Amino acid sequence: MTNLIVANWKMHGTIGDTLKRLTEFRFKLAETTGLEIVFALPFTTLYSAHIALQETDFKTAGQDLYWELEGAYTGEIAGSFLKEAGCQYVLIAHSERRRLFGETDETANKKVRAALMQELIPILCIGETVEERNAGQAMEVLERQLKRALQEIAMTDLKHFVIAYEPVWAIGTGNNATVEQVGEVHSFIRNTLAKIYDAPTADQVRIIYGGSVKPDNAKELLRVKNVEGLLVGGASLVVDQFIKICQR
Ligand code: PEP
Repeated sequence: MTNLIVANWKMHGTIGDTLKRLTEFRFKLAETTGLEIVFALPFTTLYSAHIALQETDFKTAGQDLYWELEGAYTGEIAGSFLKEAGCQYVLIAHSERRRLFGETDETANKKVRAALMQELIPILCIGETVEERNAGQAMEVLERQLKRALQEIAMTDLKHFVIAYEPVWAIGTGNNATVEQVGEVHSFIRNTLAKIYDAPTADQVRIIYGGSVKPDNAKELLRVKNVEGLLVGGASLVVDQFIKICQR
């Protein structure tokens, strides 16, 4: 399974900034990495980025989508629009969406269905808060998030699915989870998927880690069993740092 590195640029970058940063990244990343690299960008930059990356193996992702096909939903973006703008992936239920915009496991489930309908690969984000971890409830919370977001999602749809484990306390804080914590949670996620579906289905899903990934911890995190990639926020906006993360 090819490891997946997702750059989440959040609400950073005009079209001009984005193209400049992508061009710099593309030309500085000299060697072939053997990794699949995806840029999750603000909506307004996606199409220009797609055109700029056409001759490369780099891919793009939306940072969110709405579950309806079209209609009177001012401000929302349909999956088909992302597809048309060249996206192959879409982030779903990032913790900032959950915390700041009221997203729930139920809306995550609707968004997963909408993504699959457009043949976009969902990158479903799950993760516990620091209070939940300290109360010993991390696994319970993760199991609930997974089960609800995957409700009535067919086994065959899990083929290219991505789950991002992003402990809320590690996002943007500089405190990444330890390799032991990541190993424990990723194997728990794999086992939970095997319980919901079956072991071969669970093995097809890429489980990636996000939360304060930096050049100096990326390699050790990628060596952890059941870690098939990384979701990188802050460090992905700094070209030289992201290049170090993507180099072997
Ligand atoms: C993220 O935005 O998904 C993320 C993991 O951010 P950071 O790498 O900055 O912690």
